[in-house]
Amino acid sequence: MLKKMAVGMAVAAIAAMALQVQVSAQQGAPARRAVGGTTAGNDAYPTEDQYRNSKEAQALVQKAFALAGTDWRLQERFEKSCGALGPQRPALLRQNAGLPGEPTRVMEPVKIFDNMYFIGYNTIGAWAIPTNQGIILIDALNNEKDAVEIIEPSLKKVGLNPADVKMIIVGHGHFDHFGGAPYFQQKYGSHVAMSKVDWDLIEKPNPNARGPQASRPLPKRDVELIDGQKITLGNETITIHITPGHTPGSLAYYIPVKDHGKAINILMLSGANITPDRASLTAFNTALDAAKEMKAQALINGHPGLFGNEIGWMEQIRETPSQTNPFVLSQEQFGKFGEIMKACAESRLVAMDYKGTN
Ligand SMILES: [Zn+2]
Repeated sequence: MLKKMAVGMAVAAIAAMALQVQVSAQQGAPARRAVGGTTAGNDAYPTEDQYRNSKEAQALVQKAFALAGTDWRLQERFEKSCGALGPQRPALLRQNAGLPGEPTRVMEPVKIFDNMYFIGYNTIGAWAIPTNQGIILIDALNNEKDAVEIIEPSLKKVGLNPADVKMIIVGHGHFDHFGGAPYFQQKYGSHVAMSKVDWDLIEKPNPNARGPQASRPLPKRDVELIDGQKITLGNETITIHITPGHTPGSLAYYIPVKDHGKAINILMLSGANITPDRASLTAFNTALDAAKEMKAQALINGHPGLFGNEIGWMEQIRETPSQTNPFVLSQEQFGKFGEIMKACAESRLVAMDYKGTN
């Protein structure tokens, strides 16, 4: 009886969720949507109308929905992945819903895995991976001030020495990811790695940047990454894939970590959005397939909150570090999550072909 009821409740919850997806689609788009940038700008996403009316798109949404099944952890990720705008920063979603923005706050560093720390804000982070030959830093926050006031003190707080940062891997060529890198490059001689195309991107004058934005210091061109490259420091090797979309050379990384002593692989996506073309989708799919092949079990995103309640999960880890890591899925769950992300990304792409005939 009890079992039957639980199943009934799960079915009801899914039905409610399906309804929610439809209702939110039917509410129509506000005149101007705030969207996370891609190289295609605001044209990267279908309108709510295109998305709702494209049978092909809705079939893919249903496919993703079915993949999540009764697994609430996958349902949570499905909700974040599908929709006309796809995974977006919580701040943008709040803006679109007409809600006041959540204030930016600096977080205490969090030991997400035995050998990986989150450092930074609730909206943007940097990750420190200590190895036996120094520290790999992934991303470097906004500017020199963040490097001095957040990254250095956070590293010290978790027992790491900022002078040991040997390599900074920049996920993509935007200031909130490389801003603190020149400081480390100058002070500690840290190497800075970025995709070759994103080095080109940041060195081009930005026509939209004015005043202090235009004159912000850039890291000196150093390590140029290409698709499939491996970066090794001491006992850690990170594999890189290039996923054009958010920028031409946004990175997907495969990072071996330890979770409560157990070795697992994780995927990090620096730019999780595709541009509306098959080449961008194919690169995204290839990166997700590679993650599945490497038996990845967790996804970390450059901006917390895109695919789940990442800030909440980090707070949970800080409060109860011995409990099961909320970032970690089984290999089977992660495989399904990858298929959900793929179907949802493709749903946006095919919806854009919908020209409004019914
Ligand atoms: Zn960006």
